[in-house]
Formats: sequence, C-alpha cells, structure tokens
Amino acid sequence: MAKYTGADCKRCRREGCKLFLKGDRCVTGKCAIDRRPTAPGQHGEGDKRRKPTGYQLQLREKQKVKRAYGLLERQFKKYYFEGKRQKGATGEVMLSLLERRLDNVVYRLGFGVSRAQCRQIVNHGHIAVNGKKVNLPSYQVKVGDVISIRENAQNIEMFKELKKNKTVTPKWLELDASNLSGKVIAIPDRSDIDLNIAEHLIIELYSR
Ligand code: SF4
Repeated sequence: MAKYTGADCKRCRREGCKLFLKGDRCVTGKCAIDRRPTAPGQHGEGDKRRKPTGYQLQLREKQKVKRAYGLLERQFKKYYFEGKRQKGATGEVMLSLLERRLDNVVYRLGFGVSRAQCRQIVNHGHIAVNGKKVNLPSYQVKVGDVISIRENAQNIEMFKELKKNKTVTPKWLELDASNLSGKVIAIPDRSDIDLNIAEHLIIELYSR
C-alpha cells in the first residue's frame, strides 16, 4: 500500500482524536480536532451518527495507532507479530516495542516537534546511540542506551535551541538537555503510552 501523503490533520479527524502529527500546531487553538472534530469529507457528520460495526472499530483503532507512529501497514504488522512472539500480553508488548523505536525516543526527548520530524532527524544521521551514529528510525533502544544529537549537528540552529529544552519526558527516559542527550532507564510499560488506545481491538483485528 502506498504511503499516505494527504494532510495530517485529516488523519486525526478520521480517527476522531489528536494524533499529534503537526508539532506545535497540535497544542494551539489551530488544531483541527479542537475546531472541527468530525470525520473529513462530505459524509463526515454522517459517519459520526452511524453506529460502527465491531470490525470498523477494530480497523479504526489499528489505523489510529499506525498513523500516530507514522508507519505503513507491513511495518506496523511486524510489531504485532513480534508482540505475539514475545512473553507478555501481545498488545502491551506491541505498544512497548513501538515506543522503543529510535524516532519515537527522539520525539519523546523533545528533540523534534513531531514523530515525522524526528524520523527525518534520524534519517539525516544527526542521532547517535551510545556515541555511534544510528540512522535507522526503527532501531530498538534498550535499557542503558544513551541517545544524543551528534556533535557535528549540535551547532545546527534548531538543536542549539534545545539546550533550553524543558520537555517532560516519560518516566522510562532521562533527559540531559545541556548535553543534548537522553538515557533509557527502563522499558516503557502500558502506563507510559500517552495516546488513548484500546489495543485489544487491534489484536482482535489481526487475529481474525
Ligand atoms: Fe492537526 Fe495536530 Fe490537531 Fe492532529 S493533533 S488535528 S495533526 S493539529
């Protein structure tokens, strides 16, 4: 399936919730969800009134999470299979694996305003893990890893600003803003996922 390239805000309106895809705009009064929370298109209002079927609910939940993390279907499904393979509740493991993607960690540390921007930051080779360049957004971080802006990128204007970074990180990450780095101090658990997700619906969908 081709990558979706339409307006980010439409994706939020389709899912009926904020997916935080546009950085600062998402926390201002300009957010489309705050202004017009109906599904996009001329049948948007109608969509809201019709009672969705079980399958539609499952599908929408999957799309919501997939879009929040900015993944294609085949990439997203891999996390389900890996969640199933590992010990623990499949849905929770799946979400923890998604959280541990390097692009997401860069986002959580506040090094970029959206996951999409953080993916670019990783792709452009600005990030190091334990001092070594890693330009793979799907890289899985582990406890003890130190994620930093590489030295030669620290002079880029947008990163210089980050030294005043006051991002509140989730409890599994420790930010060292003055050194433009952060450490993974625990494996993220269910309570660290800040999107409103009913992961059992995704598991039901893939188990059909
Ligand atoms: Fe647009 Fe961000 Fe609001 Fe989503 S959360 S509708 S991306 S402004």
